[in-house]
Amino acid sequence: MKKFFFAFFLVPFFGIAQGTSIPETEYDKIESKVIEWRRDIHEHPELSNREFETAKKIAAHLQSLGIETQTGVGKTGVVGILKGDHPGKTVALRADIDALPVTEQNDLPFKSTIETEFLGSKTGVMHACGHDTHTAILMGVAEILSQHTDKINGTVKFIFQPAEEGPPPGEEGGAALMIKEGVLKNPDVDAIFGLHINAATPVGTIRYKPEGTMAAVERFVINVKGVQAHGSAPWSGVDPVLISAKIIDGLQTIISRNAELTESASVITVGKITSGVRFNIIPETAEMIGTVRTLDPDNKKLILDRMRELVPQIAKAYGGEATIEIQNNTAITYNDPQLTSEMLPTLKKVAGEGNVELVKATTGGEDFSFFQEKVPGLYFFLGGMPKDAEPTRHHTPGFFVDESGLLLGVKTMSQLAIDYLNK
Ligand SMILES: [Zn+2]
Ligand SMILES: [Zn+2]
Repeated sequence: MKKFFFAFFLVPFFGIAQGTSIPETEYDKIESKVIEWRRDIHEHPELSNREFETAKKIAAHLQSLGIETQTGVGKTGVVGILKGDHPGKTVALRADIDALPVTEQNDLPFKSTIETEFLGSKTGVMHACGHDTHTAILMGVAEILSQHTDKINGTVKFIFQPAEEGPPPGEEGGAALMIKEGVLKNPDVDAIFGLHINAATPVGTIRYKPEGTMAAVERFVINVKGVQAHGSAPWSGVDPVLISAKIIDGLQTIISRNAELTESASVITVGKITSGVRFNIIPETAEMIGTVRTLDPDNKKLILDRMRELVPQIAKAYGGEATIEIQNNTAITYNDPQLTSEMLPTLKKVAGEGNVELVKATTGGEDFSFFQEKVPGLYFFLGGMPKDAEPTRHHTPGFFVDESGLLLGVKTMSQLAIDYLNK
C-alpha cells in the first residue's frame, strides 16, 4: 500500500502533469499574428500542387522558430518537427494549404485578385474552402508550442499538406503522396489531428462525430457498347442509350435494396452521360461518369462489388457489353472511436462544454482520411460563421470566414497535442 502511494506521488516528477495548459494571455498575443498571416495567404492563393510561395512562407516561419523543417515533401508540402523537453510519443497536426479555381466576389481589403490558367481556361484563384485559415492556425500553433517545449512529452510533427482539393489530372499529390514519401515515419506518428473551418458552423463552436464523419469518394466510369443502327430500325442494332438507362436504374437499386442504411448513408450518382450525334442514329457506345459516397467500410465493399457485378450483366441481358472502372479519390474520414472519446474532454475544456456538438456525418470527402487509414486520427469542424449572419457555401465566390473563430482553432490544436502526449 505504501509503495503504491509512493509511486503515485512520483508520477508528476517524471513527466508533465495532466491538465497542463498554455496561459490565455499568450493565445491572445498570437491572435493578431494568425489573422495577419491568414490575410496574406488569402490575398495570395495558389492552386493544388502549385503552393510554392505559400510553402516558402510556412518554411520561413518554422525556421524562425527553430523548428526542424523539411520542404518539398509531396511536391510543395512542408513538415516541421518539434521535440519536447521530455521523451514520449509523436503526434501530428495537419493543415491543408491549397486554394481553388474560383474568382472571389467578396469585398475585402485582402480580397484575392490572382488569376491563372486551369485546365486550359482562365480563372481567378481563391481560398474558397478556408485552407488559408488552416495554414495560419497551424503556424500559430507551431509558434505557441515552440515556446513551451517544457510542456511537451514527446514530439509534435506539423504537416502542411498541398493539394487537398486533388492534384491536377496526371499528377500525384495530397495526403497520399506525403504518406508515400514517409511523412508518418521517422519519428513514427502515433496519432494525428486535423480540423476544417466551416462557414455554416457558428464561431466559437466545434462539431465532431466518432467513426465515419466524411465519406469515401470513388469516381467511376462505365463504358457501354451496343451496335449502331438507323434510328428508325432499332431491331437491327443494340441501343447503348437504353442500356445506360437500365444501368442507372440498376445502380440505384443497390442503394435501395442492398446497402444497409440504418447505420450509415451511401450515395451513387451518375453525373454525366455522353452518347450519340443526332436524332435518327442509334449510337454504338455510351459513357457514364459518376461518384459513390460511403461512410462505412463494409457498406463500401458491398456497394462496389455489386456495381462490378451488375453493370456488365445488365448490358449482357440487353445484348450489349459494359465495363466499369472504379477509382478511389479519398478514404472514409474515420475518427478512431477510442481516440475521439479520449480527446473529447480536451475539446470541451478549450471550447466550453456547451460549444462542442456531436453532429451527423456528411457525404463530402476529405483526404485527411488517408492519414487515418495509417494511424488513429481525429478530424473535427471549427466554427467560421459570423454571429447573426447567413452561412456562405464552400467552393463559391462568396465563401466567407469570420476570423474571430481562428483563435479557438489555435487553442484546440495546441491543447490536443499537449494532452495527447501527456496522457
Ligand atoms: Zn474544399
Ligand atoms: Zn477544404
